[in-house]
Amino acid sequence: MVLPVVAIVGQPNVGKSTLFNRIINQRLAIVEDKPGVTRDRNYAQAEWLGHKFDLIDTGGITWENSNIEEEIRAQAEIAIEEADVIIFLTNVANHVTNLDERIAQMLYQTKKPVILAVNKADNPEQRMDIYDFYSLGFGEPIPVSSVHGTGIGDLLDQIVQSLPKDLEQNDKEQISFSVIGRPNVGKSSIVNRLVGENRVIVNNEEGTTRDAVDTPFETDGTKFRIVDTAGIRRRGKVYEKTEKYSVMRAMGAIEHSDVVCLVLDASTGIREQDKHVAGYAHDAGRGIIIVVNKWDLPKKTSNSGKDFEQIIRAEFQYLDYAPILFVSAKTGQNLAKIPELVRRVSHNQQQRIKSSVLNDLLLETSKLVPTPMIKGKRLRVYYMTQVSTNPPTFVVFVNDPELMHFSYQRFLINQLRENFDFSGTPIKIIARKRK
Ligand code: GDP
Repeated sequence: MVLPVVAIVGQPNVGKSTLFNRIINQRLAIVEDKPGVTRDRNYAQAEWLGHKFDLIDTGGITWENSNIEEEIRAQAEIAIEEADVIIFLTNVANHVTNLDERIAQMLYQTKKPVILAVNKADNPEQRMDIYDFYSLGFGEPIPVSSVHGTGIGDLLDQIVQSLPKDLEQNDKEQISFSVIGRPNVGKSSIVNRLVGENRVIVNNEEGTTRDAVDTPFETDGTKFRIVDTAGIRRRGKVYEKTEKYSVMRAMGAIEHSDVVCLVLDASTGIREQDKHVAGYAHDAGRGIIIVVNKWDLPKKTSNSGKDFEQIIRAEFQYLDYAPILFVSAKTGQNLAKIPELVRRVSHNQQQRIKSSVLNDLLLETSKLVPTPMIKGKRLRVYYMTQVSTNPPTFVVFVNDPELMHFSYQRFLINQLRENFDFSGTPIKIIARKRK
């Protein structure tokens, strides 16, 4: 699941988003785009010769009221922190600019591979000019034309060669989870406490790049990995300045997790931004736990928990499967329950139900509630089988998939939830016509 991250950095107008779109479109086998909230166009999955990676266009992030200097610093900071490989994009027509040099200086601070690409090298003459760019100190520049598509293959070859090799060899036994939420809800406080109170696994071997930003720890014999810990724990986080980047960052973390802990702040209630973050988590099909932090703050009556829960259920109707946990990173209340719950949700995601059991359930439910009738035609459900896990996905064979109305799907999902523990994980139902 863990994909390496490649970031594009460069001064304005060198063609970063054109290159971004070019690379995305190189995907020959286009993976089906997930439905739901539109994916942020500055963050997408790309593939070259069977190697998948996440691509970020750091320049596509709008920085309200910031000057070029600040913007460039932010871009470099994001790339240095997030990426496994950095593409430093320049423009042949500009020659080497002061800004290029400023960016180069910032990038010298990273040990990560930096690939220097010179864009707008549309013709042979321009391709001769790329040698000036040696002076930036990142080795041989690669001439590309993002508009015409030339040189992109060479660039991609170089990217693929520079990707860390061992990302896929993650410990299979380990459960990855991320802690997401808008700024100041207490993500860092929660992570710091979790990490402080559990046995953090120190990896002596030469780690992957991602190891540096993830924190593995062990509790009650289960190994966990908190995704993107460095980003969460760092203060004065540049990427939280704008909501757009904050959401994008959360998306990256979500993609690398089995289970997502969505943190809300009990003292401020639910805000619009909480809903955006929640929407991404839901669309990604990961397990979700809603963590209400700062539970030490509100004045409480015997109903406070229930009341807050009701508000959450009303605001996040689509997350009706997510368990809710009230915690305080300050007092430590209930924090130990986070790993426990993550483990349970992860177990539920992996759960497989035998077809025989599923079909007994179908038979029972069909006795309870008749299948719907649409335009005089009744839905007939013949057989149900689980085709995959994470999220649990069920194929239902029917007489006519058109008759499988959303509400009946919903009904089947509820039946599954009532009979098996699928808390924390979304469930998918696919209707197929019986042959
Ligand atoms: P982040 O931006 O989501 O990582 O949030 P931080 O962890 O930096 O916390 C933001 C502020 O909330 C800090 O001042 C914390 O001390 C405070 N805070 C975090 N958790 C709690 C909590 O459970 N109770 C109280 N009272 N304050 C908290």
